[in-house]
Amino acid sequence: MNKTKKDNYKSFSNLLLNWYDKNRRNLPWRALSGELPNPYFVYLSEIMLQQTVVSTVIPYFLNFVKKWNTIDQLAKADFQEVSFYWAGLGYYSRAKNLHETAKIISNDHNSIIPCDKSKLLSLPGIGNYTASAIMAIAFDIKSNVIDGNVERIFSRLYAVDEPLEKSKKYIEEISERYLPNQRYGDYAQALMDLGSLICIPKSPRCSSCPLISFCKVGGTNNAKIYPKRLPKKIKNNRYGLFFCLINQHGDILMTKNNNKGLLSNMDVIPSIGWLKEDKNYFSKSPNFITKKDSLFDLDWKILEKKIIHVFTHFKLNCSIAIAYIDNNDILKDQSVKKSYKFIDSQNLKKLAIPSLIKKIIKYLEDENYF
Ligand code: SF4
Repeated sequence: MNKTKKDNYKSFSNLLLNWYDKNRRNLPWRALSGELPNPYFVYLSEIMLQQTVVSTVIPYFLNFVKKWNTIDQLAKADFQEVSFYWAGLGYYSRAKNLHETAKIISNDHNSIIPCDKSKLLSLPGIGNYTASAIMAIAFDIKSNVIDGNVERIFSRLYAVDEPLEKSKKYIEEISERYLPNQRYGDYAQALMDLGSLICIPKSPRCSSCPLISFCKVGGTNNAKIYPKRLPKKIKNNRYGLFFCLINQHGDILMTKNNNKGLLSNMDVIPSIGWLKEDKNYFSKSPNFITKKDSLFDLDWKILEKKIIHVFTHFKLNCSIAIAYIDNNDILKDQSVKKSYKFIDSQNLKKLAIPSLIKKIIKYLEDENYF
């Protein structure tokens, strides 16, 4: 990187910020040029953007702020409603943490999002990246905000040959050197925008890049091979069986997932398994179900079709067991009644249903199972 030998960091940030002033994306959580950012909008967007792309987040963000325009309003919301508005965004523990954090800020911080990194880090769901992003974008405080875009840009600028998994510390050190002495929020967002619009993963648009004179691989075919990565691990398969019980009105049986972790607090179709391949019996004998495993001791038909859903760490192969009943007697037992409910198609739309369950319901509807 010839030019960096002269340590021309100022020219780097000036070029980037000038580019940003002309090319910045208009995003609903962003302040317009010359306006102060709304820290609640910045916080909410950063939580939603964890593991989720901008285009997916925009409609969710707009719905959230239409419903809860301040952190206080969100703090006072019923969590069931928050999870309903979150449904479909995935990583549902984020919704729980978002609501918890809103309550803490409302009660303990006078409804003001703290502009102190250690205080931010003490709040549920806020890690180092999110705290740095809030510091820079909401409060214009100097912070090295490193997301996937920044990693990609700096690994190309410096042609970092070590796989990203091993070079994060190095990238953090070099990106730190380039932080400007003003406009910290704009600088962080400029890098994000450059990574989304110009230094894109597959075919970087080097001829439009303001940083090309700083870049070791800019304009070459090599640019796209950075950042290098360790070979991908193959995702583990898991197998689950979903019990789709339809009553005489065409309503489907749903339950609340009270387990911690994946799909926590969401409305789901009852299921068993989610087993790893070595223990799996659904893949080996998909029509087999023991009485012990069967729900309500009914006659279940297991469908040929398998629904596949990919989570971050595994791929879930979902078998569907279907049964019909002509009365709701199974809900007579109080303990059963407490855990399960039949829901009609209109009210299904009001529940916080994760994408996996939506996929199963859509399949059943498309194939006229109910
Ligand atoms: S010149 Fe190309 S590879 Fe280098 S930072 Fe710009 S877009 Fe990325």
